[in-house]
Amino acid sequence: MGLIVQKYGGTSVATPERVKHVARRVVATKQAGHKVAVVVSAPGGTTDHLIDLARQVNERPPAREMDMLLATGEQVSIALLAMAIHKLDHAAISLTGAQVRILTDKVHTKARILEVDRRRLDRELSRGNIVIVAGFQGITAEDEITTLGRGGSDVTAVALASALGADVCEIYTDVEGVFTADPRIAPGVRKLDVLSFDEILEMASSGAVVLQTRAAEYAKQYNVPLHIRSTFSEAEGTRIVEERAMEKSRVVTAVTHDRDVTKITIAGLPDVPGVAHRLFSALAARHINVDMIIQSASRDGKADISFTVSSADGETAAKVTEEVSREIGARGVHWENGVAKISIVGAGMVSNPGVAAKLFGAIAEEGVNIQLISTSEIKVSCIIDAAEVERCVRAVHRAFNLDRL
Ligand code: ASP
Ligand code: MG
Repeated sequence: MGLIVQKYGGTSVATPERVKHVARRVVATKQAGHKVAVVVSAPGGTTDHLIDLARQVNERPPAREMDMLLATGEQVSIALLAMAIHKLDHAAISLTGAQVRILTDKVHTKARILEVDRRRLDRELSRGNIVIVAGFQGITAEDEITTLGRGGSDVTAVALASALGADVCEIYTDVEGVFTADPRIAPGVRKLDVLSFDEILEMASSGAVVLQTRAAEYAKQYNVPLHIRSTFSEAEGTRIVEERAMEKSRVVTAVTHDRDVTKITIAGLPDVPGVAHRLFSALAARHINVDMIIQSASRDGKADISFTVSSADGETAAKVTEEVSREIGARGVHWENGVAKISIVGAGMVSNPGVAAKLFGAIAEEGVNIQLISTSEIKVSCIIDAAEVERCVRAVHRAFNLDRL
């Protein structure tokens, strides 16, 4: 008998019919002899609707009250799912993040999980209950309700699986797994059977939406085996495992893209020690995550720095940068939203020269200009005009023969 954590996303619980479908799947897992803990998101569209409501009464709602509001979405799903399971004559109990005591830091709307208390979970599981936990939420040491950032139910699921030592954390979604590119835009995409933690982390952080970045980070850090699969089919999805458990044959595994990118350039920075530190600590103090950073070579004692942030943080990041720019006497700040990031990811890239050149070649053939480039051991990313991104994803997918095995 094993212990399985299952996470169902918003589309999987968007209607009463779907909630009943999920209930049947959960019960089937229980009947196969496993202990089951389930994490659910708010019904599809609910979180967006709540955000919209908040904006209608206050365009800058206090973050604490935002969390009070947003946490209600998941509470709807857990209660409905528990009811649907009861209807199937199985024992289930729903719990909020606070009831479990999913302890987080105090950063409202993007809190980080510090610890998951497993005592209540263990108690309920050993009573034979299917335990249903609200995703996306936690509680601070001061008993304040927090949320974990958009898509945060994935993080809840991985944290729960880690705390419980689950055999697997299954992430149920509306697609059959992780693909070589976004199936909505590239023809001939293939489902990937297996990925390493590093690959899923790089894919998530470069725009693949199947798994939230922090959840990928957490899974890698705590070595939580994942299985990303469809709520609506029995097919095997994509398994995420440690790299040594994989054969390394692929150079490039997937192409990802991200349209939620803001590019900010601060020009004419005095080229002296401490300037970058000043800028990026000011951004960090506002909890803004910076992605790519590129500094130009210095000319006449001045340099430019360009960096990217997610567009949700774009305006705040630009404001902070403008303040810093004035303080340190830079020439000025320019920012734009109409850019996108295209990336290739693959664990075999480390030992294969020429991969980046091939990527740049495919983009050049489309006549598209590359604005920024960054690389890691297993990823190369380019910032391009957002209007060109779909075309480039298709071209790059073809160039690396990702449509073929
Ligand atoms: N309901 C939250 C959101 O829409 C969390 C989640 O779905 O994972 O972002
Ligand atoms: Mg999600």
